[in-house]
Amino acid sequence: MSTNTPDDADRCQQLSVARSPAGTVTLCRHCRQVHLELQYMTLRFDAEAFRELAGLLVFSQRRIDSDPSLGAQLPNDPPPAGLMH
Ligand SMILES: [Zn+2]
Repeated sequence: MSTNTPDDADRCQQLSVARSPAGTVTLCRHCRQVHLELQYMTLRFDAEAFRELAGLLVFSQRRIDSDPSLGAQLPNDPPPAGLMH
């Protein structure tokens, strides 16, 4: 008996977790897989891998926010003139 039958896939049910202009996160209540849906692609993670990714993203954003030299290196993204008091 196959473990990857259409019947198995039918039991997958993606529940919406969060939505923003950046994308959508859903969680399958059947296999606990997390889907990160971006504009042109969907990335699939098991729960632990998604937790690792989330930590990596939060850590990276904190570094960018707290270290002006990192932010200044972002190409094609000059800070708005209004913030340069
Ligand atoms: Zn599933």
